[in-house]
Amino acid sequence: MMSRVIGVFSAKGGVGKTTTAINLASALNEFGRIVVLVDTDITSPNLGMYLGNHDIPISLHKVLKGEANIHDAVYTHHSGLHIIFGSVNPNEVDTIDYKKINDELEKLKGKYEIILIDSAPGRFEETIRDMNFITSIVVITTPELVAVTDALRTITIAKQFGKEILGVVLTRTGSHEHEMTEENISTMLNTKILACIPEDKNIPLSARASSPVVRTHPESDASVAYKKLAAKLLGSSYEKIEKRDNVFDYMVKNLGLK
Ligand code: ADP
Ligand code: MG
Repeated sequence: MMSRVIGVFSAKGGVGKTTTAINLASALNEFGRIVVLVDTDITSPNLGMYLGNHDIPISLHKVLKGEANIHDAVYTHHSGLHIIFGSVNPNEVDTIDYKKINDELEKLKGKYEIILIDSAPGRFEETIRDMNFITSIVVITTPELVAVTDALRTITIAKQFGKEILGVVLTRTGSHEHEMTEENISTMLNTKILACIPEDKNIPLSARASSPVVRTHPESDASVAYKKLAAKLLGSSYEKIEKRDNVFDYMVKNLGLK
């Protein structure tokens, strides 16, 4: 099986990286792809917090310390998503050899079609440099000038390290007074905009339900936008994929395939 490795990156924190990683992974999973989502934010991992997995006996930290096998660190969330979590114990961080991550994640290839990486904002440059495992990246930014400026930095550095930039995802659109237009952002970054994820009150609600919004509110604006993004990354259109899935759902329901 060919594996695609996609990193979700931004120089700035709080722009919606983790939310995007969770929902993109979940949408890809819904479209039948075998996906694993990995929290590589070593100092403050928060996938567990968002998805209600607080107790992680086998964390990525344990694997990087050589105390566990990477395959045993894959948890199946109730949404069906496969996830590798980080440890929230600050004492685990000091002794980590971060560069080992490449060898460990390499072992996931062949088992998963898509390996999606949620990254840390603060350590962006080191992450991009050290994680040669990541070949393609999606850059996340809100449509504000300061965030877009940071995104430009992210893209410039990523290109210097030879990463393929799949495109930019604009998050929390429609929530600020002075938003840049999609066209201006695309021009400034010299990169295509893959998706605009609108500000959506169902996103904090889904976090409270420890689930992806594409699961808790599949028809909400943000969910549809995330599903369109997933379809685009698969080289298809949302309408086509939904149609295929509906046929599949029909068969599952009516022929008792599940
Ligand atoms: P990052 O991983 O980049 O730090 P998060 O994904 O943790 O960002 O998002 C930061 C905050 O913004 C969270 O509270 C999240 O619920 C909220 N958020 C992200 N995207 C949206 C959106 N489209 N609509 C509303 N709230 C959002
Ligand atoms: Mg995050």
